[in-house]
Amino acid sequence: MLKEFFMGLSQNQLLNSTAKKYGLKLGAQHVVAGTNVAETIQSIKELNAQGISCTVDNLGEFVFERSEATTAKEQILEVIEAIHEHQADAHISLKPTQLGLDIEYDFCLENLREIVAKAHEYGIFVNFDMEDSGHLQPSFDILDELAKKYDNIGTVIQAYFFRAEEDLHKYKDYRLRIVKGAYKEPADLAYQEKSQIDQNYIQLIEWHLLNGKFTSIATHDHNVINHVKQFVKENNIPNDKFEFQMLYGFRKDMQLQLAREGYNFCTYVPFGQDWYGYFMRRLAERPQNVNLIAKQVFNKKTNTMIGLATGAFLLGRLTKRK
Ligand SMILES: Cc1cc2nc3c(=O)[nH]c(=O)nc-3n(C[C@H](O)[C@H](O)[C@H](O)COP(=O)(O)OP(=O)(O)OC[C@H]3O[C@@H](n4cnc5c(N)ncnc54)[C@H](O)[C@@H]3O)c2cc1C
Repeated sequence: MLKEFFMGLSQNQLLNSTAKKYGLKLGAQHVVAGTNVAETIQSIKELNAQGISCTVDNLGEFVFERSEATTAKEQILEVIEAIHEHQADAHISLKPTQLGLDIEYDFCLENLREIVAKAHEYGIFVNFDMEDSGHLQPSFDILDELAKKYDNIGTVIQAYFFRAEEDLHKYKDYRLRIVKGAYKEPADLAYQEKSQIDQNYIQLIEWHLLNGKFTSIATHDHNVINHVKQFVKENNIPNDKFEFQMLYGFRKDMQLQLAREGYNFCTYVPFGQDWYGYFMRRLAERPQNVNLIAKQVFNKKTNTMIGLATGAFLLGRLTKRK
């Protein structure tokens, strides 16, 4: 129920635009590195100093205006320049819908082409994050198109999809991030049971570690991490063939510990004004994270947000019942 509540909120466009006006609130400042490039580069440098590399995500979703997608592209180009200028150990993660996938395929393709070309010039890798099932195939298509010219790109395989194994085999020669999957997907496309998703997740990781180019294992799940540690040891898979990834602000001690143990570790560093949908999905995944917001619950603005959030959620449910 709580999961559904936060997932519903994450997709609410009114709340998304309202949240932008308030800056980082509701505890989002613990899991979002900053609202601008300068703050974000500072956070990256601090992580780099601890032996952790970063993948930087300029937050944004629900982009239906060309001007917004163009602004997002320019912000990502600015981040690429900043990574290069500061010689930071960092690469880019981006979401195709932020760059116009819901507006027009070709428009999105050209925006991504510009980003990938600039990153290529500086030897910076670009990861295409994977979103919900409706955007899956067009995102792969853009990847295929850009791969004809550029080799600095890779993507994500979401283990909850039935098609994940087929996609993994097809894209095995890419640098791939493997995740469980963050969106609510229908039963005809995706596993619904956590045990099934976890099992598929392990199988995909093992297969790609043995057969793929480079594997990013993106999870906060210590059981998976311990399993992978054992698996790479037994199969003599060298450390330069894989890395662990976690989100900024989550399990910080474990992030540092893995880096200290000599594993490649990469923190996913989100930044920007458009933090709301990202933050709500994190609460949906792990409602315990709600304690992040508990401390702020008596803050006046926060009360406004929570009131709006609850109202919008209830309205959404009533509308669905009709
Ligand atoms: C770097 C990164 C990039 C991602 N990119 C994408 C993407 O492009 N597309 C997409 O769909 N999804 C993406 N995700 C989200 C992913 O799909 C999962 O929704 C998310 O990671 C939650 O699953 P999990 O594997 O971390 O563990 P879960 O299955 O949520 O948790 C398993 C167990 O791990 C422990 N645990 C989990 N979190 C914590 C915590 N914060 N503190 C303490 N213990 C904890 C608990 O014991 C829990 O029961 C990404 C995740 C990461 C980390």
